[in-house]
Amino acid sequence: MDYHNFLRLEFYSLPVNVGLARVAVAAFAAQLNYTVSELDDIKGAVSEAVSNAIIHGYEGAPDRLVKVVAMIRVDELEIIVEDSGKGIQNVEEVLQPGFTTAGERLGLGFSFIRSFMDTTDVQSAPGRGTRVIMTKRAGPREEHADAN
Ligand code: ATP
Ligand code: MG
Repeated sequence: MDYHNFLRLEFYSLPVNVGLARVAVAAFAAQLNYTVSELDDIKGAVSEAVSNAIIHGYEGAPDRLVKVVAMIRVDELEIIVEDSGKGIQNVEEVLQPGFTTAGERLGLGFSFIRSFMDTTDVQSAPGRGTRVIMTKRAGPREEHADAN
């Protein structure tokens, strides 16, 4: 039978939880046939998206909820990072490398996410929140990958 799995995380918008989310999603993703370098890419993408939710979506408020869903469908991982914060007026604009609304930042988070993952989709509504949907395909499953 085709292998499917599902993970849902929900946590406060505290910077300490960026590390938690990246490790949890990477541990989940390790069920698939990724290289160490691909797992590092997944960690990087989760870090950038969760950091954005905390820093931009919730503007640093510590008691809002960030939601992360990770789904395995056969040999592909889909990750959704969602906040119900301030939202984005113009998604096309914020995807440009170097675009930032926070003066001291580099504006490269979305560029990293897009280079780390196979597909990236950003859905947002001003005042309602933002959802970043990312996918990455793994190598073919190995015969005895489920053994432990
Ligand atoms: P860096 O990631 O390099 O530290 P950055 O966060 O500004 O800088 P990106 O991650 O590429 O750069 O995001 C670009 C811009 O998109 C942000 O400056 C912000 O205006 C907007 N943005 C990103 N994520 C969100 C979000 N979850 N909610 C609201 N705005 C967002
Ligand atoms: Mg960022």
